[in-house]
Amino acid sequence: MKVLVATEKPFAKIAVDGIRKEIEAAGYELVLLEKYTDKAQLLDAVKDANAIIIRSDIIDAEVLDAAKELKIVVRAGAGYDNVDLASATAHDVCVMNTPGQNSNAVAELALGMMVYAVRNFYNGTSGTELMGKKLGIHAYGNVGRNVARVAKGFGMEVYAYDAFCPKEVIEKDGVKALDSAAELYKTCQFVSLHIPATAETKNSINYALLKDMPKGAMLVNTARKEVINEAELIKLMEDRADFKYITDIMPAANAEFVEKFAGRYFSTPKKMGAQTAEANINAGIAAAQQIVGFLKDGCEKFRVNK
Ligand code: NAD
Repeated sequence: MKVLVATEKPFAKIAVDGIRKEIEAAGYELVLLEKYTDKAQLLDAVKDANAIIIRSDIIDAEVLDAAKELKIVVRAGAGYDNVDLASATAHDVCVMNTPGQNSNAVAELALGMMVYAVRNFYNGTSGTELMGKKLGIHAYGNVGRNVARVAKGFGMEVYAYDAFCPKEVIEKDGVKALDSAAELYKTCQFVSLHIPATAETKNSINYALLKDMPKGAMLVNTARKEVINEAELIKLMEDRADFKYITDIMPAANAEFVEKFAGRYFSTPKKMGAQTAEANINAGIAAAQQIVGFLKDGCEKFRVNK
């Protein structure tokens, strides 16, 4: 069995060593395609791969057509919108993610960006504190739960809304569960976004939702840029001089945000949420273990194209 690691942005060496250990202990062969610059290289490398580990790499119908021996793709990370799930299913290829492995990294970044923003981007002027403020967590999944844990350490009052997670699960963590996104945005001065990018959520963070946030509102996005209706967010920030937008996923209209909203807008230069040594190692090794579990025992626990 040949396991390909196809990463335009490679894993840290220590993560690759861990992946190799798992794969070779199972008696499989590990092949690396790192820092590839051309899709043709990927199309060539997948030809005889039985399994592939990827990060933000695009696995579309063309790649799946070329990968005649492929049985499984594992996205080392949480979001899997870079894989064409319908095409994978049509090709009889199992797709998995590695949920939870980078959640603490993303949560720490979300809170870190909040502190940065309430302290006026460390510009030397007096800011505000997070303690006692209301934080709304939009989607209580792996990242959302970690944000709740860290935010409670800051002394924030934590609320959450999740379309699928039962209220009891949220409330057992000492977090107040609300019935709708609208209620969450109305209640909380700070909202941290953790919804996945799906057909339903794309463009869903819009003017109507954001306009009711309390005074001094701050939206923190470590999820995906696609969930934001950028045109409506720009309109809202033009209408509300008190509104701040802080993001780990640079908007398509970044230049316009920078020009119009100095002191109220910040984006990391490139997605940094999962960029820690720990998250890198955890996700890579989990991907390797999931591949071995699938190929040896048929374990489909983290399958996302059921
Ligand atoms: P997760 O799958 O553990 O949690 C997602 C949660 O969203 C689930 O609890 C689900 O019930 C909820 N949900 C789905 N649709 C919803 C809707 N319409 N309304 C409300 N809730 C809804 O995922 P996670 O690990 O918490 O990650 C969340 C998202 O964060 C990922 O999908 C990914 O896009 C993003 N992410 C970004 C980075 C980064 O580097 N910035 C890293 C990891 C994850």
